[in-house]
Amino acid sequence: MFEYAPAPESRAIVDIKPSYGLFIDGEFVDGSGTAFKTVNPANEEVLAEVAEASDADVDAAVRAARRAYTRVWSRMSGAERAKYLYRIARIIQERGRELAVLESIDNGKPIRESRDVDVPSLAAHFFYYAGWADKLKYSGYGSTPLGVAGQVIPWNFPLMMLAWKIAPALACGNTVVLKPAETTPLTALLFAEICQQADLPPGVVNIVTGAGDTGRALVSHPDVDKVAFTGSTEVGKAIARAVAGTDKKVTLELGGKAANIVFEDAPIDQAVEGIVNGIFFNQGHVCCAGSRLLVQESVADEVMARLKRRMATLRVGDPLDKNTDVGAINSAEQLAKIRELSEVGESEGAERWSAPCELPAHGYWFAPTVFTGVTQAHRIAREEIFGPVLSVLTFRTPSEAVEKANNTPFGLSAGVWTDKGSLILSMANHLRAGVVWANTFNKFDPTSPFGGYKESGYGREGGRHGLEAYLKGEDS
Ligand code: NAD
Repeated sequence: MFEYAPAPESRAIVDIKPSYGLFIDGEFVDGSGTAFKTVNPANEEVLAEVAEASDADVDAAVRAARRAYTRVWSRMSGAERAKYLYRIARIIQERGRELAVLESIDNGKPIRESRDVDVPSLAAHFFYYAGWADKLKYSGYGSTPLGVAGQVIPWNFPLMMLAWKIAPALACGNTVVLKPAETTPLTALLFAEICQQADLPPGVVNIVTGAGDTGRALVSHPDVDKVAFTGSTEVGKAIARAVAGTDKKVTLELGGKAANIVFEDAPIDQAVEGIVNGIFFNQGHVCCAGSRLLVQESVADEVMARLKRRMATLRVGDPLDKNTDVGAINSAEQLAKIRELSEVGESEGAERWSAPCELPAHGYWFAPTVFTGVTQAHRIAREEIFGPVLSVLTFRTPSEAVEKANNTPFGLSAGVWTDKGSLILSMANHLRAGVVWANTFNKFDPTSPFGGYKESGYGREGGRHGLEAYLKGEDS
C-alpha cells in the first residue's frame, strides 16, 4: 500500500445558507411546519435549517402546479418545452462542480462519484428527455400529459433521482411537486435555483421539503394525477394502499437484493472489480447493489482471496477528498440499521471480514465488509442492508445459481460474469430481475429503461419506456 497525499475538493464554490424555505410557484417561501436540520454525515456538522411543508404548504404547491399546468405548460408546444429542458441541462453542466460538492457534503458520497456519475447523469437525463418533448407522437404512448405529478425520492442519489422524476414529467407536459428525502434536501433546493435561472415558468417545478408526513400529504392530495415514488418497499406498499381506488397513475421504484453471479470461466480480476463496484459504490446505498455474491464453488477461494486483497486497498474517508473510494453512511439511523443487520449475520453463524481501514473519529462510518458462509435462510441473504456489506453464497451449476438468485422477494437487478455468451443469454432469460448486466455492473444510461419485478416495484424509468408513466396512452 502506498500513501496518498490528500486532494480535497474546495467547498468554497458552494454557498450554503443558514436556512431554506420551500420552492412554490417559482419563489422560495417559508414553511408552516417545524423546520428541521440537515447534517453533513462525514462530520455531523449542521449544514442548514430546512422548512418542513405542512399539509397546507403541500396544498399550495399542488395548486401552483395545477395553475402552471392549465395556463402555461400543457399549452406550450413540445419544442418550446424542450428549450427550457435544454437550458436547465446546460446550467447543470455550468454549475456541475457546485452541484457535485453540495451533493457530497449533504449526502456523504465521494466527490469522485458525485462529480463523475451523479451530476453528468443529471444533465444527461435533461438532455435526453428534452429531445423527446417535441417527438411524443412517436413514443407509442400518445402525447397527452396527465397533469400534476407528486414525486417522492430517497436520499441515496438525490440529484439523479430528481432527474429521473422531473425530466420525463416536464418533457411530456406535466408539472411537478417533488419532495426530496429529509436527510438530503439541499441539492433539490439548488436545483430550484437553477429553475429560476432558466426562467422556467413559475409553478412548473415545486419543491417541498419535509419527512414522511409531507410525502404522505403529497401522494394523497386529491388534485395529484400521478404519483411517482422511489424508496423502500415498506413505504411503497403504504403508498400503493393510499392511492388504491383513486384514478391516480402510480410508479414505484423500490428496494432490491441483487445477485452478482460469478462463473468459474469469468475473468476473475475483472469480476472482482465488478463485485467491488456492485456493492461498495455509493457506500452500498444503491437499490440495485450487488449485495449477494453468488460464486461458483470451484473458484470461490480464489475469488474471495482476490476480493479481500482488493477491498484492503479501498480508501474510506473524507467524501470531498478526490482519493476517496467509500464515503460516509448517510445518517445515524442508516448506520444503526447496517450495524444491527451485520450483528444478526454474525449471530446467525456467517463469518465476517471487514477491510482493515481506519475510520474517521466523527461522522457515520462503516468499513467495507464481507460475510462468507451465508445460507439462504440468513437474514443478511434476504433483507436489504443498504450499506457496504456483501453476503457471499456459493453454487455448483447454472440452474442452482438461478434458483438462489431468484429466491428473494425482490427483482430489481442481477449481474452475470462468464466468458460464454450463450450462458449470459440463458441466465438473462431465467433471472427474475428488471435489469441483468453481463460482465459489468451498475451501468446506467438515460436511454435505457430501469425498474423492478415483484417487491422491487412497478413501472419503468428512463428511455422511451419512461415516458409511459407521464402520458395518457395512445392518442385516439
Ligand atoms: P424511504 O422509503 O424511507 O423514504 C423514501 C422517501 O419517502 C423519503 O423522501 C421519505 O421522506 C418519504 N416517505 C416516508 N414515508 C412516507 C409515506 N408514508 N408517504 C410518502 N412518502 C414517504 O426510503 P429511504 O430510506 O429514503 O431510501 C432507501 C430505499 O430506497 C431503499 O429501500 C432502496 O432500495 C430504495 N431505492 C430504490 C430505487 C429504485 O430505483 N428502485 C432507487 C433508489 C433507492
